[in-house]
Amino acid sequence: MTDQLLEPALRPIYDKVVAGQRVTDEEALVLYGSNDLNGLGTIANVLRERKNGNVATYIHNQYINYSNHCLLACQFCAFGAKKREAHAFEMSIDEIVEKARAGLKLGITEIHMVGGLHPTLPASWYLELVSRLRALDPNFFVKAFTAVEIRHLARRVFKQPLRATLETLRDAGLCALTGGGAEIFDPEIRDQICLGKETADEWWEVHRTWHQMGMRSTATMLYGHIETAAHRVDHLRRLRTWQDETRGFIGFIPFAFEAEGARPGVLKNIRHATAFDELKNLAIARIYLDNFDHITAYWVSLGLPLAQQALNYGVDDLHGTIMEEKIFHMAGATTPQQQSCAALEKAIREAGREPMQRDTWYRRIASTWSEPVPAALAALAVA
Ligand code: SF4
Repeated sequence: MTDQLLEPALRPIYDKVVAGQRVTDEEALVLYGSNDLNGLGTIANVLRERKNGNVATYIHNQYINYSNHCLLACQFCAFGAKKREAHAFEMSIDEIVEKARAGLKLGITEIHMVGGLHPTLPASWYLELVSRLRALDPNFFVKAFTAVEIRHLARRVFKQPLRATLETLRDAGLCALTGGGAEIFDPEIRDQICLGKETADEWWEVHRTWHQMGMRSTATMLYGHIETAAHRVDHLRRLRTWQDETRGFIGFIPFAFEAEGARPGVLKNIRHATAFDELKNLAIARIYLDNFDHITAYWVSLGLPLAQQALNYGVDDLHGTIMEEKIFHMAGATTPQQQSCAALEKAIREAGREPMQRDTWYRRIASTWSEPVPAALAALAVA
């Protein structure tokens, strides 16, 4: 009877999803054209619960940005900087290791680390950084570098083929690649928001090579700027096709564009995606990406209250504690820069889901943080 509650255009799609059939691109456009948000949530929930039951996960992790010096100047980016610019920064390896050591004492299981395309750091610097982080604890995951950073490292820094560079980094201790840099794959949109960045196929070449080595990564989408629904479907179609080939993506993490930090041009003065659009986009991602096990609500962009709601719109993961987010906050995000494990668990329980801590590869693990967490801290983080 559930499908009788849906908008008529959604009913055949609901029936297909219940029957375990894949939705087409045309049907994905019907989903984007619908304003029956709860109907979309109902369909997404079928897949969400089939794949993950009632469990919702989070990771106890820490973000570190080693430097924002960058050779590129993507139009949407407020993070990257030339060395002479006032907001440019660079951390030493000792500083990064000390930060990670402090995080480990709090129970983090992952360092998530990205930077810009640094013009001068040598290969030995990256290898020492990764190996010293990994040496802190053998159970500790080092998740680092976007596809465009990896291409930069291969071509300009390691001066090795892509696969050899990835193998060298893996042998030093790199455990997973981040999903950043995907933006929107359509080439015309890409030229307007991140001219000079790698193409969609180059982004995929990095992830495919990594997957072929038996490793895993995540995938992202930056939406809510100048793209259309058709561009979003194109982005999802490429990811679904690629995932059919390698099964190496562990999760999908879409996030909305923050206009405040954008450079002058087509991206200035774009209004932030609405809560309606953000929930819709997450639900459609869940419905369309039937070969992705996990859809993550990125609370840094959504805010925790909306990420919490997303747990009933196809999402089964709330990302992590993060502890110090810079990229979105330099672009104007007003959300907190960190969450406690207690706050994430509270949000999950309130949404009627069962919280579970996970590792980098989305495997459920026993809690690595201890009670009691001060109630005041948990309440503060949800704000
Ligand atoms: S998005 Fe990445 S590659 Fe582009 S300017 Fe920013 S830091 Fe550099």
